[in-house]
Amino acid sequence: MRTFLDWLTLRSVEPALARAQFGELQRQVPLLYALLSVNSVAVSYTHYDAAPDWMTVWVPAVLVGVSLLRLVQWMRGSGTGSLSEAAIVRRLRLTTALGAAITLGYILWALALARYGDDHQKAHVAIFIAITVIGCISCLMHLPQAALAVTAIATVPYLAFYVSPGDAVYTAIGLNILLVTLVMIRALLNSFEGFVALIRTQTETERLNREITKLAHTDMLTGLPNRRLFFAEAEEALARCRALGWDMAFGVIDLDRFKAANDTFGHLLGDELLAAVGTRLATVFQNNGLVARLGGDEFAFITEGRHAKAAVKLANQACHVLAEPFQLGEIAVSIGASCGVATTREIGGSARALYDGADYALYKAKSGARGFATLYSPEHERRIRSEHAVEAALQTARLDAEMEVYLQPIARVRDQATLTVEALARWTSPQLGPVGPDLFIPLAERAGIMHRLTLTLLGKALLCLERLPEEVRLAFNLSAHDITCRDTVVAVVSLIRRSGIAPSRLVLELTETAVLRDFEAAEASMRLFRALGVKIALDDFGTGQSSLSYLSRLPIDEVKIDRSFLSGAGDAKGRELLSAVVAFCRSMRMTCIAEGVEDEEQLGFLASIGCDAFQGYLLARPMPVADLVAWEGSRRAGERRTA
Ligand code: C2E
Ligand code: CA
Ligand code: CA
Repeated sequence: MRTFLDWLTLRSVEPALARAQFGELQRQVPLLYALLSVNSVAVSYTHYDAAPDWMTVWVPAVLVGVSLLRLVQWMRGSGTGSLSEAAIVRRLRLTTALGAAITLGYILWALALARYGDDHQKAHVAIFIAITVIGCISCLMHLPQAALAVTAIATVPYLAFYVSPGDAVYTAIGLNILLVTLVMIRALLNSFEGFVALIRTQTETERLNREITKLAHTDMLTGLPNRRLFFAEAEEALARCRALGWDMAFGVIDLDRFKAANDTFGHLLGDELLAAVGTRLATVFQNNGLVARLGGDEFAFITEGRHAKAAVKLANQACHVLAEPFQLGEIAVSIGASCGVATTREIGGSARALYDGADYALYKAKSGARGFATLYSPEHERRIRSEHAVEAALQTARLDAEMEVYLQPIARVRDQATLTVEALARWTSPQLGPVGPDLFIPLAERAGIMHRLTLTLLGKALLCLERLPEEVRLAFNLSAHDITCRDTVVAVVSLIRRSGIAPSRLVLELTETAVLRDFEAAEASMRLFRALGVKIALDDFGTGQSSLSYLSRLPIDEVKIDRSFLSGAGDAKGRELLSAVVAFCRSMRMTCIAEGVEDEEQLGFLASIGCDAFQGYLLARPMPVADLVAWEGSRRAGERRTA
């Protein structure tokens, strides 16, 4: 009983269902009132002469007036979109109550009218009531509560009036109509069940759809928007800013040392770390823009309507909060972040163009102002243009003809004997003239020709080695791409084998940053080279911010201390640092080579702290092999003379 009452008063109706019911009723109920009005006018008309005026004019006028008023109200009601859930339920209740009241009015009036007129006229009333009730049930099929109320209120007085033992015809009509109404109600309830099921399926489908869309747009690890959503939002923001004449800033944030943390502590902790980074960034950009994770350890943000300065300030704030240590369970992890920012002031076009600009600024931040934000500038624009020119020239370069290898000696500190010569690439482009390796090596990596270039250079370097004394070794530089690319590693090994040169005369130099880029792949390559009998040197040591304990896991024979340490050798602090690094190498039993030695004073200091070898302009600049052979020859001749 209670459930029935709840159902009847729409207390238990589902919001989505109520909305759908209301939508359907908006189409049906006006028809219902139109039907009622037309039928009443017809009955009034046939009874005009038989019944008093108040019965055929005034009462029906009031009833039809109320009906038309409701009709207009229903027709004027706007869509369901603007109504709240509660308002819709309220209207459905009102529809049921008013429907019942109006029905009562009509039925009492019709039964009163049935007392007048001849048999034909009486029959008209009976038909009027029957047809109208059936019509109402049909129109109210999406609100069974109202249909039931209307049916009950109409049929009970109707039956009481017509079913009497004395009049077989009207009794039969009454019972017939009752039967038809009951069947109609049953059919209505059946079809309403179908309607409910349909709406439930639709609601569920919509919910799933929303869920899927959300999943497709969210980065699971951090809960931030993902790349797809972010770029879509950025395009929209761009259009908005353009229309309003505002500036928009696009920032790319890249974590420093994340890879090392991930490799050291494992992927699970790496994931936790990324989630924590996401939380911190979300706080920074909470009311200031939109932040997203683009993938890996790369995040990005946009801000609208801010000047470049404010955007850079915000980006620096992000770098700052990410430099604070992260406490993950028992483990404290310190990483950091650098950021590149580009604004619509400098770059027009698409979100993609802004991203490229920000990414370039980031690249500059990483090689210069690590841990801070760098703003994309016209200077960057010029550089990119010249890089494009170099890249284009590289793509069409005939490597064998245009590339050359210069050699620079590395000597023992103690007696200045030449131990090794380092092969350094030189490129003379027919279009651009000489281009330095600092510029073209990274571009060759980006252009996908590094594999070819490395093999060309190694081939040339190995040929040089044949012209040098037996005890002099060759050092050759491998790029980040080389040591993480299986094909290149295999090709390098086979080239060395085929050259017939003793592998012990070869040193492969890998930079610290290259090793950090993909630690596992780099370590595997290093072990492979080692197994062949080749020595491994860690180049540019001290620039990659890696921890010493981390490097001690690698199979390294020699360490080349970066030039920047030597330039610091002028002051006490710099000297202290240099001696600490040398002491560390000695303790690890690795040969220690100082790069960029330019004066006697530096060399004297290196001797005093026990550094093994050195390289630099003081000894010799890089030179073609013929010059080096001559240089070495004259040194040995000089030694013999002094001896
Ligand atoms: P690197 O391996 O650190 O090479 C040493 C760089 O320092 C060379 O620059 C060399 O000319 C320069 N240098 C040597 N002594 C001094 C000095 O006393 N003072 C100063 N200021 N500089 C000195 P270079 O030849 O321009 O090479 C730049 C970088 O390009 C190299 O740095 C290396 O990372 C890369 N590179 C050069 N050749 C190759 C190559 O064949 N393959 C790969 N993968 N990279 C190469
Ligand atoms: Ca080197
Ligand atoms: Ca170096």
